[in-house]
Amino acid sequence: MAERTIEVEEQITVGALAEKLMLPVTKLIGELMKNGIMATVNERIDFDTAQIIVGELGLDIELARKSEPITSTIHEKRKSNQNGETRPPVIAVMGHVDHGKTSLLDAIRGADTAKGEAGGITQHISAYQIVHKDRPITFLDTPGHEAFAALREHGALLTDLVIVVVAADDGVKPQTIEAIRFARKAGVKILVAVNKIDKEGSNVAQLKQQLAEQDLLVEEWGGDTVVVEVSAKTKQGIPELLDMVLLIADVEDLKAEVDVPATGLIIEAHMEQGRGPVAICLVDEGTLESGNYIVAGGTYAKIRNLESTDGSKMAKATPSTPVVITGFKVLPEFGDEFQIVKDEKTARTLAQNMDRQRKASGSKQDIGSGELIRMINRTNEITEFPVIVKADVQGSLISVIDSIKSLDTDEVVVRIVNSGVGAVNESDAHLAHSTGATIYGFNTQMPTSIKRLISRDKVPVRLYSIIYELIDDVREELGTRLAPEIVEKDLGALTVKGVFKTSKTEIICGGEVVSGKLTYPALARIKRGKETIGEATITNLKRGPQDTKEVFEGEMCGMNIATTQKTDIQEGDRIELFTRESVTRHL
Ligand code: GDP
Repeated sequence: MAERTIEVEEQITVGALAEKLMLPVTKLIGELMKNGIMATVNERIDFDTAQIIVGELGLDIELARKSEPITSTIHEKRKSNQNGETRPPVIAVMGHVDHGKTSLLDAIRGADTAKGEAGGITQHISAYQIVHKDRPITFLDTPGHEAFAALREHGALLTDLVIVVVAADDGVKPQTIEAIRFARKAGVKILVAVNKIDKEGSNVAQLKQQLAEQDLLVEEWGGDTVVVEVSAKTKQGIPELLDMVLLIADVEDLKAEVDVPATGLIIEAHMEQGRGPVAICLVDEGTLESGNYIVAGGTYAKIRNLESTDGSKMAKATPSTPVVITGFKVLPEFGDEFQIVKDEKTARTLAQNMDRQRKASGSKQDIGSGELIRMINRTNEITEFPVIVKADVQGSLISVIDSIKSLDTDEVVVRIVNSGVGAVNESDAHLAHSTGATIYGFNTQMPTSIKRLISRDKVPVRLYSIIYELIDDVREELGTRLAPEIVEKDLGALTVKGVFKTSKTEIICGGEVVSGKLTYPALARIKRGKETIGEATITNLKRGPQDTKEVFEGEMCGMNIATTQKTDIQEGDRIELFTRESVTRHL
């Protein structure tokens, strides 16, 4: 038992700590320095550091936290929620292009008459809730892949079920297979919606055969894959599809704690005139209420308003509910985890810490988790470049289309939204505006009235009289849509000779540079023997007591390492520094 216990805040200045310890501040600064921490009298150190330093000083004093510790990640907080309450299922709809994903989502939204009447869904939303048989169901909208991957990436696994849409008249296609693979990899249930059954030429039996080839055996053939036949056009089968979703949700017994501070994920964020940063959050656990302090990535907010994604006010948001939040100081990023904290001070401190860590983890070129998620998506998805082609005569129209289609790769394809002979006209401009297409004209004109329209709607129009120039332009556009290549560059390595501090989020250690040149910001792989035991971010380097930007082979140095999960670095470990950059590829 220590002689005396003193209470210390989560963050304390060196001066204030010295005072509490009744020590000359220079002695404390000296001890910090010995441990590789350069801190002046007014600088703050965290509780864990203070505790280590008190131990090092050999003082018979025990430190106690004055306030609740800040939980650093959602994962640590996330616990078995079997005691929780039943929550709505979260559904992602995926499938091959043109198989009716959008139409099906629209039909489902329309099936919820209350929401349908409220209307008002004018802007892009990334999630919404419908009510079927008095039970809410959450749908992740376009880009379903993205939100889905983010959830998975963050271990939240809030996507419970993927509806794979397959057109009955077209069957299983590459993106269908991709969707199945993606859902499997994530370990989520698959429900197959066979769409367009109203169309002639649909062959459901053959489709079931194709599904079987993908190891999705339907129930009537002894498997457990649920297949629901629907028509997004006539709405046939939609209620049955939703019944199935609820049934699967019941079997899965989806639960989450409600009476805990809310945590979840930012699934969309954008600026809105008059409202500033607007974020759509999907609640993972707990209950979000207006007035709460929310931290997401490097930013925080006092929640001003809670709104559902169709714009209606909400008093609170419980698990699996998508909710629109305003009040953030800075835009959070897509894929950021959020958490509710008890007061503004905690929110600010936590946001600042995360912001600092992010900045330290690299220049703009470095890849944040959001970017990584987007890349994972891109490799799972075929990116399209929508175009409208106009040409002077049928013959040249066909050669232009054939030439640009020949540029298709496994990753990027040209999608011909429309084509025709003649000048660029008003309907081309409208179609391009609504589909996001670029208009290519070959040996053709554009009347002045259309010029005004396209400049108002900012529709890209490219007119060419040399076919190779047109093709080059399309090639370049496709190139910009290729997922960048991730390139890792080794900087150098260090052998650990001593570890000075280990907290939940930071390790301070020192050692000898055994190869290369160490610089920061950099990423680091921590190795013990042949095994990699963790990846982290180098946030500072020291040569002796001085901060330095670089250290060379043969020199000794100290380093601060920011970690997101508990990593135990030991003497003898090898820390390999590297950078990770995204490099633009060319077609
Ligand atoms: P997505 O690319 O998967 O989002 O597909 P869309 O929802 O944009 O649908 C592609 C095309 O198929 C559109 O022209 C729709 O009108 C049409 N479509 C979608 N669902 C049905 C359906 O159930 N029956 C019929 N006949 N056409 C459909």
